[in-house]
Amino acid sequence: MQFTPKRKKSGGDIYTEKTACPIMIDLPHKEESRHCIECFRCVNPQAKGGLYMRLRHPGEEIEKIRSHNPGLAEIWFFFLGTGIALGGFLWLVLPQFQIWRQQIGAWMVNKEWWWVLESGPSWLMVVEPERREVFYWLDFMMIVGFMLGFMVLLASILFATTYASSYLSKKLSSTSESISIRFKELGYQYAPVAMVSLIIGLGAKLFDLLKEIGLSSNMVSNTKVFLFAIGMIWSLWLAHKILQTQGVNLSRRWLAMLPGAVGSLAVGYSWWVAIF
Ligand code: SF4
Repeated sequence: MQFTPKRKKSGGDIYTEKTACPIMIDLPHKEESRHCIECFRCVNPQAKGGLYMRLRHPGEEIEKIRSHNPGLAEIWFFFLGTGIALGGFLWLVLPQFQIWRQQIGAWMVNKEWWWVLESGPSWLMVVEPERREVFYWLDFMMIVGFMLGFMVLLASILFATTYASSYLSKKLSSTSESISIRFKELGYQYAPVAMVSLIIGLGAKLFDLLKEIGLSSNMVSNTKVFLFAIGMIWSLWLAHKILQTQGVNLSRRWLAMLPGAVGSLAVGYSWWVAIF
């Protein structure tokens, strides 16, 4: 749903203190939904002005992101959030992580840095001897380093694929927008894949609940696969719609969609390794 002005003024969102909105949105100019906290204060069905609530299909704002003030900070959140969520799973399952841990640990011990085999403060890392879970400084540095490294790697892949899509979009369309404007819009194609990644990655307890209501482990895994498949198809759909607004002809649009599909597949492959 979305709160939309009954009498809209053009020009995009602006902010003012002379408004009923606690976020200081100038109501007749409201176009974006990202800052609205949906408090209903601006909604009065009897009034001629103000806002009304309308239903919209999911993703509508991203399909028309050009008129909804795309922002680089949001794109970086998609790129980095996906990577850090995946990194948090992959260190648990990749044998290579254990090999690196052994090698780096041995190298540090050879240097007589004994402190790496001591545990740190419990507000920083897991120190629960009664549960036989005690992390050392070595674990802390390895896990944080691995997660950050994977975040940078995946963000680089998504950056490269988005840039390739933007470059192709510029080459294949007759409109004049620069590659950087196209990049800012096409980065949003990863919103569904990124959000599903965060749900799967950070919502472990949510899926535990499914087991408690009687679903088998297989069914829970299939639910995750299903969610991810929807995310990927939705990402492709968004790329198709965004490229349409960028003036890329339907017959050649698939070419500019290819790098985006590669990026989604890279995320999908990493999840496959991590949890399926
Ligand atoms: S619902 Fe609340 S936050 Fe959103 S535009 Fe209206 S007054 Fe502002």
